[in-house]
Amino acid sequence: MTYTNETHDPALKSWVASANASDTDFPIQNLPLGIFRKKGSSETPRGGVAIGDQILDLVAAQSVLSGAAADAAGLCTGPSLNDLMAAGPSAWSALRKGLSEVLREGGPADQLSGALTAQTDAEMFVPAEIGDYTDFYASINHATNAGKMFRPDNPLLPNYKYIPIGYHGRASSIVVSDTPVKRPLGQRKAPDAEVPTFGPCVRLDYELELGVFVGPGNDLGHSIPLKDADGHLFGCCLLNDWSARDIQAWEYVPLGPFLGKSFNSVISPWIVTLEALAPFRVPAYARPEGDPQPLDYLKDADDAASGGLDIQLEVCVASAKMREQGMEPLRIGLAPFKDMYWTLAQMITHHSSNGCNMQPGDFFGSGTCSGTTPDSYGSLLEKTLGGSQKFDLPTGETRGFLEDGDEVVMRGFCEAPGAVRIGFGECRAVIEPAG
Ligand code: MN
Repeated sequence: MTYTNETHDPALKSWVASANASDTDFPIQNLPLGIFRKKGSSETPRGGVAIGDQILDLVAAQSVLSGAAADAAGLCTGPSLNDLMAAGPSAWSALRKGLSEVLREGGPADQLSGALTAQTDAEMFVPAEIGDYTDFYASINHATNAGKMFRPDNPLLPNYKYIPIGYHGRASSIVVSDTPVKRPLGQRKAPDAEVPTFGPCVRLDYELELGVFVGPGNDLGHSIPLKDADGHLFGCCLLNDWSARDIQAWEYVPLGPFLGKSFNSVISPWIVTLEALAPFRVPAYARPEGDPQPLDYLKDADDAASGGLDIQLEVCVASAKMREQGMEPLRIGLAPFKDMYWTLAQMITHHSSNGCNMQPGDFFGSGTCSGTTPDSYGSLLEKTLGGSQKFDLPTGETRGFLEDGDEVVMRGFCEAPGAVRIGFGECRAVIEPAG
C-alpha cells in the first residue's frame, strides 16, 4: 500500500522562507492544523495551518483554494476542527493538497502573505470540541516498568498481549499547551500510614504520550474494522497526561485511574495529520517469539506491514531556577513510538469493537511511551523508580517527582531517509502550587 504522494516530495519548498529551514518542525511537507487567533484580540478563533514560524489563516486561504480543498477549508472557519474531522479522508487529503500547492514556491504569495500570523503573535486553542477521551496503555515497556513496582514477579497481567488496555478519561480538563497546571489536592495514603489524608499531591508526574483525534467514527452498535481504521484517524499531537501518583496509587483499585489523572491533561496545539506522517510509517512492533498473535479482529496484513509510526517523543524539564538563569530545559527522556505494542488502528478498532460509537473530535492517548533504558522512559515513576532515585538538574537541584514552578516541555519529531524531517511543535506547562 502506498501512502505518500506529491505533498511529501522532499524537493518542495515554500515561499514562506522559515518553512525551508532544516530545523523547522513545520516545513511544507507537514502542514499541521490548529485553532488560533491573534494574541490579545477578541477575534473568533478559527482554523490555521502552521508553515515555518507562521500560521496561514484558513478563512483567508479559502479564496485562493478551489474545489474540494476550498470546501474543506470552509469547514475550518469556526472555533473547532470537528466538521473537518467528520468529513473524512478525502476532504482531509484535498485540503492538504490544496494548501501544499498554494504555499509552494511560485504559489500566490502576494495574495496570501497578508493572511499570515507569526506563531509568536498567536493564541492557540484546543483544536476540537472533545466529546470523549480515552487513554490507552500501549507501551509494553511502560506497562512492564510500572507493573514491576506493584508486582515485581509478575509485572504484565495476562490480558496485556491480547487487549489494547485503556481507561475512560475526562475530556473537560484537556487544555492546550502553555496552560499552567495547578498541583491537585487529593486523598493519598503512605504505605506505612493507617488512614489516608487529604492534601496536595506530593508525587506529581508527567506521562509522555501521543494523542490522536478521531475522524468520522462509527454509529452506536457498529464497529470499525481494522482495515478501515486509518480512515477514522485524523491526526496526532503531543499529550502530557499529568499523573498524581500518590492519589492514583490509593484510588486505582478496583476500577482504575480517576482523580489522579482527571485534574488536567495538556496537549500541543498542532494536529499533525496521518497523511503527513505517511513517510514515517513502519511495520507494527515485532512481537517477540512466544508472544501470542493478535486475535483476528486486531489482525490485518497492511496494519502489520505499515501500522507503526517512527516518531521520537522527547520530554524535558526546567525548574523555576533554571528558567531564571536562562537555562534550556533539560532532556530527561527520548522515547521511540515505533515500539508501541499496539498500533493506533488497533486501538480505535478495539475501542469500537463492542459497538461503542467513536465521534468526530473524540480523543485518545497512546499511553505513556517508554523505551527500554532509563534515558528513554516517559514518566518519572519509571525514571526515578517511584521517586527513590533522584536525578540532578544543572542548577544542583534534584528531582524525584515534580516541584512547583517546574516546567515540563514535550516535543516530537520524525526523520526518515528520503523524507523531510517534520515535528509536532511543543507541549509545555508550568506547575503552580495547590490551593
Ligand atoms: Mn496516561
